[in-house]
Amino acid sequence: MIVNELAVRSLRELSSRLGFAQLGIVGARDSPNFDRFCEWLDRGYSGSMRYLEDRREAYRHPDYVLENCKSIIMLAMPYAAHPRTQSSKRASLAQGNKAAATVGSGTIAAYAAGRRDYHDLIHERLSEIVTALNRMFPNTRSRGVVDTAPLLERGFAQLAGLGWIGKNTLLLNRELGSYFFLSAVLTQADLPATPAWDSDHCGTCRACLDACPTDAFVEPHVMNATRCISYWTIEHRGAIEESMREGIGDWLFGCDACQTVCPWNRKLEFDLEQDLEPDAWSEKVDCMFWLQLDEATFRARFRHTPFWRTRLAGMQRNAMIVAANTRRNEAISVIRRFLGCGDAVLEETARWSLEQLTE
Ligand code: SF4
Ligand code: SF4
Repeated sequence: MIVNELAVRSLRELSSRLGFAQLGIVGARDSPNFDRFCEWLDRGYSGSMRYLEDRREAYRHPDYVLENCKSIIMLAMPYAAHPRTQSSKRASLAQGNKAAATVGSGTIAAYAAGRRDYHDLIHERLSEIVTALNRMFPNTRSRGVVDTAPLLERGFAQLAGLGWIGKNTLLLNRELGSYFFLSAVLTQADLPATPAWDSDHCGTCRACLDACPTDAFVEPHVMNATRCISYWTIEHRGAIEESMREGIGDWLFGCDACQTVCPWNRKLEFDLEQDLEPDAWSEKVDCMFWLQLDEATFRARFRHTPFWRTRLAGMQRNAMIVAANTRRNEAISVIRRFLGCGDAVLEETARWSLEQLTE
């Protein structure tokens, strides 16, 4: 066991050099919140995200992600808070970087504002941890995952001691708030677990529940994705339900409203990975920028960014809604060009947007 404890110490040092602010370890076991996840799916809250339902069983145990998994190393890497976050030092930094999100134009979720796509960046860093594990435990396998594997990360992160799941359903950490990426390395090496986080520090606060522009919280800790702006503007393919459009306000891509109000995000003082510092807020938050972007430029510039998931058509659908909600009259002539574009979703959104702007 002493050998494994030395291994953990060396993994901790390595992860810190790689930009991870925190590391915790939990022994492989059934997913702690699998039943809640199934109930959430059964209530239809995952909407059109079929990939969740399709892999439902795989979320039950980490063995589905790595055979004979013995331990899960959970890692947290901070990113810049959204500029609207109330009194956050990291938000002020983000604000100082070029122009801050301009009210009346649009805004994007803070996680997408970094210079590089976090998947690529974190995968690179995780592979260094996997290499170190391979060296320390030669007859074992390890696998790094960020977002795409069927792993209920937040529950495992709580068991690994990284924090508690807040009423806004995000993992909260006393030092990092909630603006951080969670990732994991699953390994066949049997590592000593770190103490689980067993307290909740939301108390009587309900700021996130009250701040949600579209009433997505059914109750504390339960969010109906089919009422969430992030779901509609990032995950959903096709038209955005008309009843949701006004609530989207000026969110072009994602939404941070339930993070910007959280008191745990007010005093964030951690150094950021250079590559995750906000880049060109002014451009990516402008609906006119997206409406005038052509496919070739989008492909060249955004292939390795979170915007790729939504595709140019999705971003333009969102931009037309933001233009209508923020009364961007100068967008009218640009939006008219979508009327005969041949994409039924864009044509319908353009008609709706023009009605709002010209009524
Ligand atoms: S991300 Fe926005 S829309 Fe979704 S639950 Fe949070 S506040 Fe509501
Ligand atoms: S806003 Fe309040 S209730 Fe919501 S997650 Fe933060 S501390 Fe918890």
